[in-house]
Amino acid sequence: MPVVSVSREGEIAVVTVDNPPVNALSQAVRRALFDATTELDADDGVKAVVLACAGRTFSAGTDLSEFGKTPMEPHLPDLVNRIEASVKPWIAAIHGTALGGGFEIALGCRFRVTVPDAAIGLPEVTLGIVPGASGTVRTPRLVGAEAAVELVTGGKPVKAAKALSMGLVDAVVQGDLLQSVLAFASDAVARPLPVPLSQRTVAAPASTFWEDKKGAIAKRAKGETAPLAALECVRMAVELSFDEALAFERKTFLDLRASEQAAALRAVFFAERAARRPAGLKGVEPLPLRKAGVVGGGTMGAGITVALRDAGIPVVLIERDAEAVARGLANVRTIFEGGVKRAKLTKSQAEAKLAGVTASTDCGLLADADMVIEAVFEELGVKRTVFNQLGRLCRPDSIIATNTSYLDLRLIAEGVPDPSRFIGLHFFSPANIMRLLEIVPIPETAPRTLATGFALARALDKIPVQAGICEGFIGNRILKRYRAAAEALVYDGVPIAEIDAAMRDYGFAMGPFEAQDLGGLDIAYLQREGARANGRDVPETLGDILVRAGRKGQKTGGGWYDYAGDRKPQPSAVVAELLAGKIARMTAHSAIAGHLVGEMAAEGDAILAEGVAGQPSDIDLVEIHGYGFPRWRGGPMFARAHSHRQQDV
Ligand code: NAD
Repeated sequence: MPVVSVSREGEIAVVTVDNPPVNALSQAVRRALFDATTELDADDGVKAVVLACAGRTFSAGTDLSEFGKTPMEPHLPDLVNRIEASVKPWIAAIHGTALGGGFEIALGCRFRVTVPDAAIGLPEVTLGIVPGASGTVRTPRLVGAEAAVELVTGGKPVKAAKALSMGLVDAVVQGDLLQSVLAFASDAVARPLPVPLSQRTVAAPASTFWEDKKGAIAKRAKGETAPLAALECVRMAVELSFDEALAFERKTFLDLRASEQAAALRAVFFAERAARRPAGLKGVEPLPLRKAGVVGGGTMGAGITVALRDAGIPVVLIERDAEAVARGLANVRTIFEGGVKRAKLTKSQAEAKLAGVTASTDCGLLADADMVIEAVFEELGVKRTVFNQLGRLCRPDSIIATNTSYLDLRLIAEGVPDPSRFIGLHFFSPANIMRLLEIVPIPETAPRTLATGFALARALDKIPVQAGICEGFIGNRILKRYRAAAEALVYDGVPIAEIDAAMRDYGFAMGPFEAQDLGGLDIAYLQREGARANGRDVPETLGDILVRAGRKGQKTGGGWYDYAGDRKPQPSAVVAELLAGKIARMTAHSAIAGHLVGEMAAEGDAILAEGVAGQPSDIDLVEIHGYGFPRWRGGPMFARAHSHRQQDV
């Protein structure tokens, strides 16, 4: 099958790209499209050209497998220019997504027509680069500087309706796309054609626009370079001629493509893709998930219920007694109402989602669930009783999962009839938002159970990472080491605020101490106390001293910092006093972040050596998706491996 074919519908030519799975713009596709422009320009019988794509989507853009290789002609910017320069107007017929290079090809066309569920965008910044084939130059010429800045610096695709209102597309059509676009084409050629984008100019925005945007984007980007570079490209597109702006964009694109940040973001992108479908589970059919059960409607149970409902899966939510049932349902409702407040959901959508939750004390309702996830108190006895019941009541082929954070899964599963269906599914709080899902099999877990865990992650749009059994799995184990290392710096005399600031500079939203104040110091404290009560030798931490003094974090008005009625952390004289005898000396510490990230990576080494994680990139995914590690640093393992190139690690 040729990757590009040309057919005729009367006086309209239809050029179809057929390069599965996502019609990436490989060299063969670019060459064939280039040739098509020449062929059709020479054909007097053709009045207009429709550019369509076969399969599930319009072109999703650059062929990522060509990344890092010597670029081969024709280059994408030349192809986009060539399409625009065609004697016959080209019309892009967009279904699925037109992203990056895919959308840039559409920008070379004189018109863009989409179906209602199509999405278009320039997501290059998420890979640490900017569009490299006129996306930053033609987009402002199409929709103005403000809208272009939003699209290019944010990287978020927009749905067809919004694209139409922004002016990114000319029409959104119902029904058969090709037939509608053929009709659109016949109509369009009967009227004067719009001026090609390369020949248009852009109105300059308000005088403060660029500085304001720069400030806002720098704040959001936290050290990531591509969004600011993308802003600069749009600014040049407004201030320079088309050709000059194109040259500026190309140079920026090539510089960024060779940068360490782009390498990190590419590595994370490929790691995520691989994580969704582990090679070891090829050919293993997961169990279809038509109905799920959740036991426990607290923080995690409610969030998991919402995540399942967001994926369209009906949920039975089980609680201990009538009062707890009402509370659990209220927890779920509160999350949906939050979605309505933030305009993520309409009221009726929220109601429909809530209507798909059956809350009860009756475990018998779980009898026909395909999967049941337990999220009750973190106590072995309580969990064992629950699984004992589930083992008896649930369909023999259903999957039963625990959301435990620290308990030994083998002990929870003890006594469960047929433990091949038992698995750990460790969600992160808030479970409907955080993308990480640690999947933890026990030795008896069947491949199908494991495959269903991964299928659940895909259905919930989460990033699954398989972890082995140990206290805290991958993420919480590294968190423990990270916090201990941060405390060790405090012992050495590095001010708490300086450590937090160093990690914010590194790209985290919060440093380790601020984050503890937000989440509460008591959870980890109680866990340490529990271990001590069981006779384990857990050395006293600085956190223990604070909790014993009543400083559990923001909720008690103070933890590592004081809070004067707001969320702004202020260095605390009380803490200084409490820790006074503990701190050895004041030492300057110039590489705090590098040290702490090194500690995380060292724990990662131990985790790998024990087989708790399968590969370094899994550890990176856990840190990025569960613990706020800056994505553009690639994760602790990537950052350490590339530390000779990252100046400040
Ligand atoms: P929570 O205290 O908010 O909720 C626990 C719920 O379980 C309560 O509503 C309680 O009524 C209910 N429950 C207790 N026994 C029950 C029983 N026999 N049958 C039915 N319901 C019962 O706790 P949480 O924070 O949601 O944590 C739940 C589990 O998830 C724990 O194992 C915890 O370690 C784990 N976890 C928590 C987090 C987190 O950040 N909170 C993150 C990941 C995992």
